[in-house]
Amino acid sequence: MNVDKEAVPGCWLWLGPVRMQQGHAVPIGDRNRRQAARLVWEEEIGALAPGDKLRKTCTVDLCVNPAHRRLMNASRLREEVLEAFAAGATVDEIAKEVGRGRKRVREILVEEGLLSGRVTLTAAARQRAAQLLAEGLPDRWIAEDVKHGIDVIRKLRASMGIANKDWVRVQLAVRHDPTLAALHNLFNPGPAVGG
Ligand SMILES: [Zn+2]
Repeated sequence: MNVDKEAVPGCWLWLGPVRMQQGHAVPIGDRNRRQAARLVWEEEIGALAPGDKLRKTCTVDLCVNPAHRRLMNASRLREEVLEAFAAGATVDEIAKEVGRGRKRVREILVEEGLLSGRVTLTAAARQRAAQLLAEGLPDRWIAEDVKHGIDVIRKLRASMGIANKDWVRVQLAVRHDPTLAALHNLFNPGPAVGG
């Protein structure tokens, strides 16, 4: 095999052709442009299915050691996404961690019933989220409360922007001032604000 197993302890350095990508040397496999790491994996471990991905677990650019790759097939990917989500990671963080697009990560979380398939909030959810944002709750809690992705909450926070500051002040004042609260209730028949 076209590798040097001595130069860096533990790593197998690819001695074949490479191309540069963002300042890093990436091994080129065969003429069909299959990745060198895949060729080595198939030779050492066994065949890879088209959907299987190999995630590098070491930081040596030219390393193609199968022991420094983690096989990410569909079920393993799902497992890792769910683990990261349970640990509190956002969609963006999970995507980065598992080396896949956020679209795929979101799909998995929606399939598992952990995220709503909607990327926009319903009117009710929006109102609730806006209120919680005004109360200063963390995005993550709000996302869980209204059962949407954290990115949707962030978008809402951004869209509320500067103009929202006054509204926030009004809301907080209403909550903390009994006279204002009474006025608010007078002009806004519905559930009482505060206690
Ligand atoms: Zn390595």
